[in-house]
Amino acid sequence: MRHQLDWTAYETAGQGDAYAGIPASGGDFAKAVAVCINDQLCLRKPKGVMCPSFRVTDDPADSPGGRVKVLKAALNGEFGEQPFADDRLAAAMDLCVGCKGCKRECANQVDMAAIKIEVQAQRNACQGIPRRDRLFAGLPRWLRGRHSRRLLRGLLRWRNRSPWLAKLGERWLGIAARRRLPEPADQPYVSALAPPGEIAGVSGERDVILFVDTFARHFEPEIAAAAHAVLTAAGYRVSTLQAAPDDAEPERALCCGRTYLSLGQVDAARQEARRLQAALRPALAAGTPIVGLEPSCILSLRDDHLKLGLGEEALALSKQVYLFEEFIAREHDRKRLQLDLKPLGRPKTLVHGHCHQKAVGAMKALRKVLRLIPEFEFEFVEASCCGMAGHFGLEAEHAEISLRMAELDLLPALRAAPEAPVLANGFSCREQIRAGCDRAPRHVAVLLRDALMV
Ligand code: SF4
Ligand code: SF4
Repeated sequence: MRHQLDWTAYETAGQGDAYAGIPASGGDFAKAVAVCINDQLCLRKPKGVMCPSFRVTDDPADSPGGRVKVLKAALNGEFGEQPFADDRLAAAMDLCVGCKGCKRECANQVDMAAIKIEVQAQRNACQGIPRRDRLFAGLPRWLRGRHSRRLLRGLLRWRNRSPWLAKLGERWLGIAARRRLPEPADQPYVSALAPPGEIAGVSGERDVILFVDTFARHFEPEIAAAAHAVLTAAGYRVSTLQAAPDDAEPERALCCGRTYLSLGQVDAARQEARRLQAALRPALAAGTPIVGLEPSCILSLRDDHLKLGLGEEALALSKQVYLFEEFIAREHDRKRLQLDLKPLGRPKTLVHGHCHQKAVGAMKALRKVLRLIPEFEFEFVEASCCGMAGHFGLEAEHAEISLRMAELDLLPALRAAPEAPVLANGFSCREQIRAGCDRAPRHVAVLLRDALMV
């Protein structure tokens, strides 16, 4: 088996354990699957995120451990010569939303989100990439130029207002007609350029690089502008990340490759990661912090990129990249933050954490940052994944179960407090909340910008 991701970190996993049950084929990938010790914790619905699909269906086959059993059968040759093309394996992985809940909460940190990427990449290699997956994954490219962006925006606006077109999209492409598709903003976020003759953000102690992801740049540029304003007000010199001078597509915004990776398009994701790495090289060498806004993008840099075989630089980047709230909390702890905030005079805010934020324990940083706002009252919603998970909730066959995941805890909690403002840092989470209970969730950068003393 030629791996699509780098699984060498599992090289010694299960070594010396007679009961490890490592499948006969699959090499280090098989070892990553076999770290499951079958203690069935994932069937007990522990407090936390794991596992949204099992929580909804109550079918053990939809738990991480259930998926491991099918993966082991596939890697032990029970599904024939081409196990990754077998529909039984595809069915086992189908409802995994890649939330990373199991990576944090399972006793042995089974990383089913990464395993699903490998499985999907292997299936793509056998059968080609489905048309809908190309469409969803290619979002950063559809948005690359002014004309293509305008065209996409017009098409999405038309589709969202025409039930006939939405139905056609469902029949041809499998995109759920009942779902509104996110529409790009009138204008994308316009990067602040570095001073002439200077390499962005590498010269001073209070330099920060702001990485504006595809979602913030094109769909909610207000968030990027708010983060820029807050960091500047806090005394940092902020540079927005620009493409490297020798980039082959300098006009196209940089992207972490998340949309490709989540659909098993590993080569395309690697290409995006390399562009980003080249742009960040000076900042990496200088140790300049890199701050980002979208949890799934930033935590991809910290986690998934280490499986792309990108060498030492990927490791260096993983240690130098921060979520916006992590950076603010870190600087506050170091007593370097100069942020004067005023009370917002709002009712108690409900906070929904992105499952990847929860998976890396970043909710502590968010709590710390929210406590910086005087008299600010908030409560974290105890919920699993919101169920949108990027493209997942937009797919015709998954739209209903996606909403059922949100209805488990998140949406009832929000409906129970109709006056409460809502905070959600994930783009997908905000989409799901808007769709499910017609609220207007905000990113913490916008909240802090509103609280600035200016
Ligand atoms: S996936 Fe994790 S929690 Fe589930 S049975 Fe295996 S080891 Fe236990
Ligand atoms: S990544 Fe999330 S959805 Fe997938 S198996 Fe793990 S807990 Fe379940």
